[in-house]
Amino acid sequence: MGGIVKYVRRWLAPNSMMMLSSPALLTRRLSLAVEESSPSSTAAAPPQMPPFDHTPQPYTGPRADEILAKRKKFLNPAMFLYYKKHAMEGKMQYLYDENGRRYLDAFAGIVTVSVGHCHPTVVDAVVQQTRLLQHTTTIYLHHAIAEYAEALAQRMPGNLKVVYFVNSGSEANDMAMMMARLYTGSFDVIALRNAYHGMSPATMGLTAHSTWKYNVAQGFGVHHVLNPDPYRGPFGADGNLYANDLANLVESATPGRIAGFFHETIQGVGGAVELAPGYLPAAYDIVRKAGGLCIADEVQTGFGRTGSHFWGFQTQGVTPDIVTLAKGIGNGLPLAAVVTTPEIAAVMAQRLHFNTYGGNPMCSAAGHAVLKVLDSEQRQQHCASVGNHLLHRLRALQDKHALIGNVRGRGLMLGVELVTDRQAKTPAKAEAALLMEHLKDLGVLVGKGGLYSNVFRIKPPMCFSMQDADFLVDAMDHVMSKL
Ligand code: PMP
Repeated sequence: MGGIVKYVRRWLAPNSMMMLSSPALLTRRLSLAVEESSPSSTAAAPPQMPPFDHTPQPYTGPRADEILAKRKKFLNPAMFLYYKKHAMEGKMQYLYDENGRRYLDAFAGIVTVSVGHCHPTVVDAVVQQTRLLQHTTTIYLHHAIAEYAEALAQRMPGNLKVVYFVNSGSEANDMAMMMARLYTGSFDVIALRNAYHGMSPATMGLTAHSTWKYNVAQGFGVHHVLNPDPYRGPFGADGNLYANDLANLVESATPGRIAGFFHETIQGVGGAVELAPGYLPAAYDIVRKAGGLCIADEVQTGFGRTGSHFWGFQTQGVTPDIVTLAKGIGNGLPLAAVVTTPEIAAVMAQRLHFNTYGGNPMCSAAGHAVLKVLDSEQRQQHCASVGNHLLHRLRALQDKHALIGNVRGRGLMLGVELVTDRQAKTPAKAEAALLMEHLKDLGVLVGKGGLYSNVFRIKPPMCFSMQDADFLVDAMDHVMSKL
């Protein structure tokens, strides 16, 4: 790797601790580095995006710099920004900026736009319902929520047949935690290190990334076990050895009885880390022997995205007691759900419980339309074939570029981890930030994640095509070849 990275390192080296605590400064310095490292005129021609038949609307509203200024003035500074571009319009797997330039969206509004930006079937369902009735809450009868709950329950295995609709993944996980405590009469909850389960006070306690934790009281009764991470974990891909750590934690840090165990099957924010094979069956066994419930967070892995299965937990052959859903469930509408068995759901009837917007007619119509589109367009099978092709090509790219330490995931839920030293697995954080900018300049938007922010997250809308996959890999090759 040549000049650009050395250049970035020079920028970062003098005060790297300060850099870590100052994302704004990091972004500024990197953007300077990007400007100075713009592709030279002698470089190979950049790859071209596949053609697409859509003309974005003309735009006459405020420009990106004005929006940025307002955002800085009127919105909370905790909000972070990937690009100083105005995402103006979306159509299926593409976004358009205010100048009508098209971008390939390989991150889907953070794994949320499942069937495609503004998918016509979902838009029609929402518009139709909105014209008739927008909102009542569940204190009145409405067919949309009941029919949708039935359709969703039909997609679940075993006795997972009762749904509670809420508005966000954090809320769903909050409710799952409460149900588990009420049902078991125990308090202790176990989650994995490197997990992300939300930002509410309770789910921040479940989340296990310093990046996402404020210095406030959180996580009372929550314990984090070793992460069964095949790439970085101490036991490699041996799921049983990691499960031993869980058994040991139950014996040593809890009264021996627990309320529940939370997991993602492919950790999303954590950088597309797929849990070591065999881990979940062994972990579920230990948890159930300790009286606990097994809770699968399917906020990112659900709805066929993994290609091989409709739900992520099925990839390890387990059936949870509670499943939480959000993001892709509504293709961008605020919709989330907790699905469990009738026996566990019954504990909620001990008191009144209420959620103003949960499953309102509009969101139920959207969620139901998403299920129909997933079936009619055979999106799970599509994720499998495009995902396999993408994995194959990304692995070939890994053979070419030493910067790629690991390629992983399933279907359209993939991660590309960048390292500056393959042996030491040194996270290539600055390089990831720089390459992400260059990719955007080529018209490709990817996500970034992992504890060290050095993993490209490729989780596009599920209509992402083979040609899009080839363009994405060619674009990565192009920008990496310039380092
Ligand atoms: N669980 C997982 C796996 C997630 O990725 C997220 C969001 N990134 C959440 C829960 C929380 O969802 P929300 O932001 O809708 O509260």
